[in-house]
Amino acid sequence: MRVVETKSELREALAEPRRAGRTIGLVPTMGYLHRGHVSLLEAARAECGVVVMSLFVNPAQFGPGEDLAAYPRDRDRDAAAAEAAGVDLIYAPQADEVYPEGFATEVSVSGLTEVLCGDPASRGPEHFRGVTTVVAKMFNDVGPDVAYFGQKDAQQAAVIRRMTRDLDFPVRIAVLPTIREEDGLAMSSRNVYLDDGERERATALSRALTAASDAASPGARTADAIDAARAVLAEAGIQAEYLEARDAERLDPIETFNGRPVLLAVAARFGRARLIDNVIIEKGAD
Ligand code: AMP
Repeated sequence: MRVVETKSELREALAEPRRAGRTIGLVPTMGYLHRGHVSLLEAARAECGVVVMSLFVNPAQFGPGEDLAAYPRDRDRDAAAAEAAGVDLIYAPQADEVYPEGFATEVSVSGLTEVLCGDPASRGPEHFRGVTTVVAKMFNDVGPDVAYFGQKDAQQAAVIRRMTRDLDFPVRIAVLPTIREEDGLAMSSRNVYLDDGERERATALSRALTAASDAASPGARTADAIDAARAVLAEAGIQAEYLEARDAERLDPIETFNGRPVLLAVAARFGRARLIDNVIIEKGAD
């Protein structure tokens, strides 16, 4: 496994495999790897000739009051985990390699980025502008055939699918299931922020989503599923930042389980940690 920090080294490392027609898989990450990241790396390893992992804590996707400085980092541990998962190449640029002096361009997807985490009362659309700008750059710099993302960040996946389609990036977007701890908590690098009490209460997020899934049935109102989830959160003393049912692809509100996949998404704060989780509920009007 090789680790490179510059675009020129990255291009040089990928030139030969590209010429040889090997498929290139890209797994973008902010590091501090857990089993969720590893599941993406292993899928890439199984499907691609060359596996590239980007490791970059992208300043552009953090708001002014957010956790950019505190975001957990451990390069050595990440390199070991990536190598064990079969990564061929880590691209770990410094910020000025990605955003050199005078950088002035943004990639922005409208609509989808203005709800849920993109609501100004939540992280706001600037968060997704940071994500789409850096992912567009990674797509150009790596030139992957396939890029892997986690369902854990469902809105991010929907936004990236739309960007890829709209800008004609010749890359297949693979979105893989959320990997969870045994008690249901979705794995996240930010789980390290939780103290014992918060860690225990945080299990209510996945329990709430399960309660919502159980309450869903073909033709039923999504509001009833939301109520079932809200009751579980209330019992754990959690006031969600948002808890909403939306069309899984278009992200517009959806009133009933009508056969289209419904995204049930939640965000809540636990001390320093802001956690998100979601489930896709597919109940046809059959
Ligand atoms: P991050 O390093 O948090 O930016 O995440 C890098 C990639 O891993 C993103 O595509 C995430 O959606 C994905 N990911 C994060 N947590 C999980 C998880 N628990 N299960 C599956 N994928 C995940």
